[in-house]
Amino acid sequence: MTDILTSPTVGPVTQERRIVTAIPGPRSIALQARRAAAVPTGVSSALPIFVERAHGAIVVDVDGNQFIDLGSGIGVMTIGHTNPAVVAAATAQLGAFTHAMVTITPYENYIRVAELLAEHTPGDHAKKTMLINSGAEAVENAVKIARNHTGRTGVAVLDHAYHGRTNLTMAMTFKAMPYKLGFGPFASDIHHAPNSYPFHDGLNGADAAARTISYLEKKVGATDLACLVVEPIQGEGGFVVPAEGYLPALQTWCNAHGIVFIADEIQSGMARTGAWFASEHFGIVPDMVLSAKGIAGGLPLAGVTGRAEIMDSPHAGGLGGTFGGNPVAAAAAVAVFDEISTRGLLAEGPRIEGVLKTGLHELQSRYDVIGDVRGIGAMLAIGLVVPGTHDPNAAAVSSVAAYAAQHGVILLTAGTYGNVLRFLPSLAISDELLVEALGVLDDAFAAL
Ligand SMILES: *Cc1c(COP(=O)(O)O)cnc(C)c1O
Repeated sequence: MTDILTSPTVGPVTQERRIVTAIPGPRSIALQARRAAAVPTGVSSALPIFVERAHGAIVVDVDGNQFIDLGSGIGVMTIGHTNPAVVAAATAQLGAFTHAMVTITPYENYIRVAELLAEHTPGDHAKKTMLINSGAEAVENAVKIARNHTGRTGVAVLDHAYHGRTNLTMAMTFKAMPYKLGFGPFASDIHHAPNSYPFHDGLNGADAAARTISYLEKKVGATDLACLVVEPIQGEGGFVVPAEGYLPALQTWCNAHGIVFIADEIQSGMARTGAWFASEHFGIVPDMVLSAKGIAGGLPLAGVTGRAEIMDSPHAGGLGGTFGGNPVAAAAAVAVFDEISTRGLLAEGPRIEGVLKTGLHELQSRYDVIGDVRGIGAMLAIGLVVPGTHDPNAAAVSSVAAYAAQHGVILLTAGTYGNVLRFLPSLAISDELLVEALGVLDDAFAAL
C-alpha cells in the first residue's frame, strides 16, 4: 500500500491498537461527567471515550488508549486523520485569511474546489458547483435549485434513505427513531418510494425500478416531481447496494420526464469506494452530485455540483450562506483532491475491500448470525440476523460494537432495523490493522 502514514508534522501516533486502561479510562469518565452536565442528552455518543489526537487510522483517547478507527467519524476522514498535506494546506490558509464570504469578496480556492468537483464527478457535460457547510445544506440547496429549475415542487426519495437533520432533510430521511420522532411537523411534498434492497426484496434491478417508478407515478405523478434524490449506496439505511440496473433505470425515467436526478454521494463519494464517486460503479450520470463528509479532511464543507443550465437557474443572490466554502475548508479540500490524485488513492478502496470482505465472508462461514456481507471498497457492512432467518438482529449488533470498543476498535452501526455493522475505514489503514480488527471481531462474535 502507499505510505500515506508517513507524517513529519504530527505527534507520535503509532499505527497500532493499544489499550492501557479500562474503557472508558479515568480521564474519559471525568469528561463524561462534565459532558452530562453541559451537553444535552439528544447529542449522544456511540463510544464512551474522549479523543485527544489521531493520525492515519488510529484514534488516541485522553487516557492514552489507541483505537483502530473503522468509522472515520462516519466516513469523513477518508484519506486518514491529520494527513500532512491537508494539515499544511489548512494551516497556511489560517495565517492568510479565514473568512471573506464568497458573496462579498471571493477567493481562488472556492473556484478551485468547484473546478475539481466538475472534473471528478461523473459525466463530461458543463457543470457548476456551489459550496456550503454540511451535507444537509447540500441536500437543501439541491432541492431548492431543482424546484427553481423545473417549476415543480415534488421531491421523491427512497425508503431507508438518510439525507440529514434539518427540517426539509428530516422529511426526506426515512427512519423516525432517532432522527424524526417528536420533531415534526415536516416540510411537505416529500414522497418516499420503495428502494432496491436485494437481501430483503429479492428483486432484480429492473423489477425493483419498475416498482419504484410505478409507485411514484401513481402516488405523485411524474410531472409534479422536481427531483428524485438517491444515495447510490445507502448510508445510514444500512449500506444497501441496489440491484444491478436499478439506478440506470431510475435515471432513464427521470431524464424522460424532466425530473432532476440527484445523487447524494455525501457518504459514498470522494474515493471511498475506489471510484471518485460511487455513481460510477452503477453507470449513472446524475444531473447533480452532492458531496460533503470526505471532501475536506474533517473541515466542514459540502458541495452541490450539477449541470450548468440547472445550477444557473436561480437568480443572482438566490444562493449563499455566511460560512459556505470557508477558505480554510476549501484549502483543505484542494489538498484532499491532490492527495487522492497524486498518491493514487483510488487503488486503496479495492485493496481494503479485498482484505476486509474476504475476512468478513470467512466470519460469515463460521457465525450464522451474519446474514450478508455487502458494500464496495472501503464502504462495507454486514447485516446481522436471527440465525436461520432474514430477521434483523439489533441486539447482536449492539453487543459486537460494544465488545469492539472495549477492545480498541471503533465500529459503527447502521440500518433502519439497527442490525447492520458498517466499516468505513480510512484509505490510510494498513492490511495489518484490518486483519487485527477482524480478529477482534471474531472474538466479539465468539463472545455473543
Ligand atoms: C451524513 C449524510 C448527510 C447529512 O450530512 P450532514 O453533514 O450531517 O448534514 C446527508 N446524506 C448522506 C447520505 C449522509 O451520509
